[in-house]
Formats: sequence, structure tokens, C-alpha cells
Amino acid sequence: MIKPRKCVLEMKAYHSPLPGPGIDLRLDMNESTTGCSPRVLKKIRSLDAKLLALYPRRESGEKLVADFLGIKTGELLLTNGADEGIDVLSRAYLDSGDELIIIVPAFAMYEIFAQISGAKTVRVPAGPDFSFPLDGVLQAITPRTRLIVITNPHNPTGAVASRKDILHVLEAAPDAAVLLDEAYFDFYGETLMDQIGKIPNLFVARTFSKAYGLAGLRLGVMAGAADQISVLRRIAPPFNVNAFAIECLAEALNDREFVEHYVSQVCSTREWLRAALEEMGFKCWPSHTNFLLANFGELRPAILDGMTKKGIALRNRPDCDGCVRISIGTQQEMERVLAVLKPIVAARPVAQQALR
Ligand code: PMP
Repeated sequence: MIKPRKCVLEMKAYHSPLPGPGIDLRLDMNESTTGCSPRVLKKIRSLDAKLLALYPRRESGEKLVADFLGIKTGELLLTNGADEGIDVLSRAYLDSGDELIIIVPAFAMYEIFAQISGAKTVRVPAGPDFSFPLDGVLQAITPRTRLIVITNPHNPTGAVASRKDILHVLEAAPDAAVLLDEAYFDFYGETLMDQIGKIPNLFVARTFSKAYGLAGLRLGVMAGAADQISVLRRIAPPFNVNAFAIECLAEALNDREFVEHYVSQVCSTREWLRAALEEMGFKCWPSHTNFLLANFGELRPAILDGMTKKGIALRNRPDCDGCVRISIGTQQEMERVLAVLKPIVAARPVAQQALR
């Protein structure tokens, strides 16, 4: 076998959870369960063979997204999902021995991309009730810190960091890239996109995978100061975003009614589910995303198993005691989740009934 680099040899492979046999309701990946805008689908169906014969032209899509976000074209890079943006950023700023700061529990890809660069991950635990650990982050900053990630709202907790705290971190680490991962922005509404071009070490990531229901299309945005984005352009492959994604962008962005309707349905269903779970005695943290983190305590294995048997996939979070992450689907789908949950809860031994 040809020997890969040492840091690659030391990496564990990332296995995206595969749907087991019989799973027909996937609530483990924070995808939309209802699909994308019909206008996007119509556009895809109208594309012709000639378009696919050509290399995709990212620049036209970048103009549309920049206008939509109110930034300059040179201040963003379209990426193959937000994942690729994180990868490109890590490769641009992390050398072997450099440090990446993340807040744990965290989205897995930050650490994976840092490992490829041979960088060290410094994990700062979230505060009480998963609050933003400002002091912990500030204390973790060293001269080797080259990248700090703030996921806002956070995955897997749904918690948010205040604008003031984010600005504090940006100021405290002027020599590090600070990535504000706003993958769940549409369910929250607060952003620092307005600071792009004003704060030199700020990067903001967005994705079309969540509120737009386009995870399969692979489309993300990395915004930052123009001189930094030009650095990222050296690394990103020129044809990283596919032709379907670029051709569909205008429809995806312009169908505001679709996005707004979906976001409002998800937010109200999420609050309904949260109230129902709390009513059953399970701690459930406030969330500004399309998912909930619930603490099922010792019932976690029984609940995960019971759901799988009924065709529902939830995401186990072994990094949070007793916790499971549940993507929010339609009201009907969430009622199906509760229908599976209720008999499991009813059958639990009395000793486990006071989970809080
Ligand atoms: N950041 C966060 C916080 C996420 O949760 C996800 C997807 N689950 C991503 C980035 C990656 O999104 P994409 O599908 O655009 O690669």
C-alpha cells in the first residue's frame, strides 16, 4: 500500500449515518422532509442536454447570491455545499501544528477538515444549557490559533451566540480566521453578514441544504473580505459547483414564499414537539433551527431502537449524555414520532420516570 500522510493515516473515516432497512422517515440529518421549491424542480426539468455538455459557470451564480446577500461579488465563493467551504477555509489557514477552536458538542466536519491539515483541535465545552462559552473561547486563544468556528445557531444544540460575544471573539483573535457557520440562519434571522468587508478576519458560511430543501444539489456560500476570498479561490476547484445548482439559483432565491412558509411551519411544529416532549418529562433545549436536542436519559437506547423498528431514524448524540437530535418534519410526521414514543415511555420502570 502506498503510504498516505501521517495525519491522514491517523484520521477516523466519517460515516454519514446510512438509512437502515425499512427506514422511511429520516430525521437524523436535518434535511427538509417535504422537498424543495416546485419552481426549482420545474427549472431542473427544463434544462437541456447542451447545458450539461458545458463546464458550469460559477460567476453568474455568485452575482445573484451577492446581490441577494447585499455584499460584493468578490466577497463570496459559491461552494459544493457549506462543507466544501469549511474544507477550503481549513486548507487556506491551517498548517500542521496550528490550532482550530471549536465549541463542543460540535458539527463533525470542522475537526475532520482540520485533521487533514495536521492541525490540532482545541475543544471548548459549551456553557450551562449549551450557552456560548465566551470566556472559554477567549482563554483557548493562543498564538497558534488560526481558525475559530462559531456555529450560530449551533448544531447539535440549537443554541445561539449573541452578536456582542461573536464580535468580542473576532476582536480578540485578529490573526485567526473566525468562521461564523450560519447553516441554520433562515430559522433564526440574526446574522453578521452585514459585517462582511468591514471585519477582516470574519467569514460567514451559509447553505441551501436546510431551509431551501436542496441538500442533494450541494450548494453553499462562503463570504468574507474580498482579499481573503481571493485566497480561497486559489484553492477551490474552478468547477466545484454543478450546473444544476447554478441554473436553479435564481428560482431558489426568488421563491421567498416557499422558504418563508417552510420555515414558519418548521418553527411552529418544533415548538409544538418541544412542549409535547417536555410534558412527557424530557428536557429539550430551546432551538433556533430545524431540529431539537432532547435528553431521553436512560431511555435513549430503547427509544432509538423503537423508532428504527417503526421506520424512523433519529440521530444519537453520544457526545451529549442521554441526548438525541430530532430533525423537524411536518406536524403529521412529528405526531408519528410521538406515537412511537408514548408506549416506550409508558413502559419505563418507575425509577426512570423522573428524568429531570
Ligand atoms: N454546517 C453545519 C452547522 C451543518 O449542520 C451542516 C449540515 N448538516 C453543514 C455546515 C454542511 O451543510 P452542506 O449540506 O451545505 O454541506
